[in-house]
Amino acid sequence: MACIPILILLSLSSFCKSDDQLTYAKPLASGETLVSKGGDFALGFFSPTNSNSSLYLGIWYHSIPNHTVVWIANRNKPITSSVSPKLAITNTSGLILSDSQGQTVWATNNKITAGVTGVAAVILDTGNLVLRSSNGTVIWQSFDHPTDTLLPGMRFVLSYKNRVVGRLVAWKGPDDPSNGDFSFGLDPSSNLQLVIWHGTKLYYRTMVRNSITVGGGTYRSNTTSIFYQTAADVGDEYCYVYTVSDGSPYVRAMLDYTGKMKTLSWSNSLSSWTVIGEVPTACDFYSSCGSFSYCDFTATVHTCQCLDGYEIDGLDFSRGCQRMEPLKCGKPNHFVALPVMKVPANFLHIKNRSFDQCTAECSSNCSCTAYAYANLSSDGTFEDPSRCLVWTGELVDTWKFSNNGENLYLRLADSPDQKNNLVKVVPPIIASLAILTCTAFVTVCIYRGKWRNKEIEQRQMLRYVSSSNEIGGEYVGFPFVSFQDIATATDNFSDSNQIGRGGFGKVYKGLLEGGKEVAVKRLSEGSRQGIAEFKNEIVLFAKLQHKNLVRLLGCSIHGDERLLIYEYLPNKSLDVFLFGAARQSVLDWPTRFKIIKGVARGLLYLHQDSRLTIIHRDLKASNVLLDTKMNAKISDFGMARIFGENQQHAKTTRVVGTYFGVLLLEIVSGYIGVEFMSTVVTCHQNM
Ligand code: ATP
Repeated sequence: MACIPILILLSLSSFCKSDDQLTYAKPLASGETLVSKGGDFALGFFSPTNSNSSLYLGIWYHSIPNHTVVWIANRNKPITSSVSPKLAITNTSGLILSDSQGQTVWATNNKITAGVTGVAAVILDTGNLVLRSSNGTVIWQSFDHPTDTLLPGMRFVLSYKNRVVGRLVAWKGPDDPSNGDFSFGLDPSSNLQLVIWHGTKLYYRTMVRNSITVGGGTYRSNTTSIFYQTAADVGDEYCYVYTVSDGSPYVRAMLDYTGKMKTLSWSNSLSSWTVIGEVPTACDFYSSCGSFSYCDFTATVHTCQCLDGYEIDGLDFSRGCQRMEPLKCGKPNHFVALPVMKVPANFLHIKNRSFDQCTAECSSNCSCTAYAYANLSSDGTFEDPSRCLVWTGELVDTWKFSNNGENLYLRLADSPDQKNNLVKVVPPIIASLAILTCTAFVTVCIYRGKWRNKEIEQRQMLRYVSSSNEIGGEYVGFPFVSFQDIATATDNFSDSNQIGRGGFGKVYKGLLEGGKEVAVKRLSEGSRQGIAEFKNEIVLFAKLQHKNLVRLLGCSIHGDERLLIYEYLPNKSLDVFLFGAARQSVLDWPTRFKIIKGVARGLLYLHQDSRLTIIHRDLKASNVLLDTKMNAKISDFGMARIFGENQQHAKTTRVVGTYFGVLLLEIVSGYIGVEFMSTVVTCHQNM
């Protein structure tokens, strides 16, 4: 057994229990830990910050350097470290956490009946803390009370006898484990879909249940394949079961404090957690494409599209789509089947209907806009296996997949054959006005042509980006942001907000609604060269995620405007620190070393560890940005190239930037590469 080698426990006693269990006779005091038999997990007291003022009883991975907490007993009731907390077993309350005055902070509240012997609380190698009797009967287990994390082997019960039960609740912030704003669970209004809430608002929605009981996927980490499963019916329970194959690295799913549900796997080589799945990412945020539209998952880059019979309302999807032909009550309507969809939100679930009856429900109701039908009989837990959903009014949060979706029956108006009518009623008198009309028509055409060209160019751009299959046709999520939002965030691209200028245009600082700071790169108008880089940057960035790469948060295309939106890095670029005389002194040796390591990690990820093999081709000090803690992040992927997995060399027409070795010398010496060489030569000559 070993003590927990983490900073935040330094001020605690260094005494550690060598056991994996506590009994009546052996309570657990602060500074002590229980470690599971195989050494995978530990139970003990921790403080999420270095202040050590608040203590929590929690479970974390024991054998990795990164302190990752997976469960907390008293997340909303921290204990002041001075009061010496104790975890003990009692007959009246099961496991009980109390302070030195004997005040109960948290308890499992199980009465242990007389005659039950050998009760012990054991931390298992699965990360489960189990209170059990000597014959193995489980009295209580932490797996039944998840906080923000799901672990393999855990059965996260979503509903019991059709009553919604389980919910994951995210931390409030990176260092604050108390209940945050985001939560994840089964939607109690329908029992049919999993949802991430932001407070009481919908933030993300999965598919509505449609007879699929088990979903999942295979993910490949660097060495091992990982399999996970999702929702399943077991008797009265509808639960989320999560399993991985033998020999997999550590895997966990968690709802982070920003509202993302992430699946992460531990990478020994990177000594960090790698995100292998994450929602929401692109236009799959709740209702992000607006009404009567859908998020298209069949495209390489997920984009918003209008439903059949609808057209975009404006130039982007901020107002969604509008009907091309209005529905008229009593006039002929028809339904089109849109296949492989995630059906919209806000449905009415009508019980006990056959498919035909469901169709009739919608067609007989003037305000019904769509319906969908499924038979849930294979699920077994439903008294009424029919699932007839109808929508009246807006259709929001619809997705289109390549497979595994369902039919959405959309109501459209039958359009009258107006063209024939027109031909019949065109009076001969118009012929006499033909010359005048033609002149007006030609004038209008010229103006319309110009306007249309702009629109076509924009659509081409969208297609240009979304049609790229350079990344193997795999799913790539990427959010398009409205131009207006960016203009507002940057105070109409005011000079006072400009923070830099590069080869392809100006960079502005922006403040999004909600207070998030971003950097906006505005590609110079008419920069033909910039389009290729713009596209490259989007397609590549959407697939890359690493702490040493700058995060691209979104993009915007509006007429001739092309904008890239990045996370904002307050310390800007490395060249300012290195070559700007006033600031060189800030870079002490540990900081320089930290920057070198950061750049090296980013490059290793690009060259070797990412799912694509990428050569940046424009590495230089001005493309290394620094966050508040002087962590290095590589930016500017406009020039980058994807290489084949086994490809060691490739012909490239444009190589710019700096070799890593030269950059390293620049960081060490504070001289620009050529200056450094001439300094070396001068020194040599003077010797
Ligand atoms: P080139 O385009 O020739 O490669 P560059 O890398 O300096 O030159 P940009 O990437 O457009 O050009 O950046 C210009 C400047 O804007 C940077 O040097 C940096 O100071 C600032 N900048 C760019 N991105 C960010 C960001 N995400 N956060 C903060 N500042 C940034």
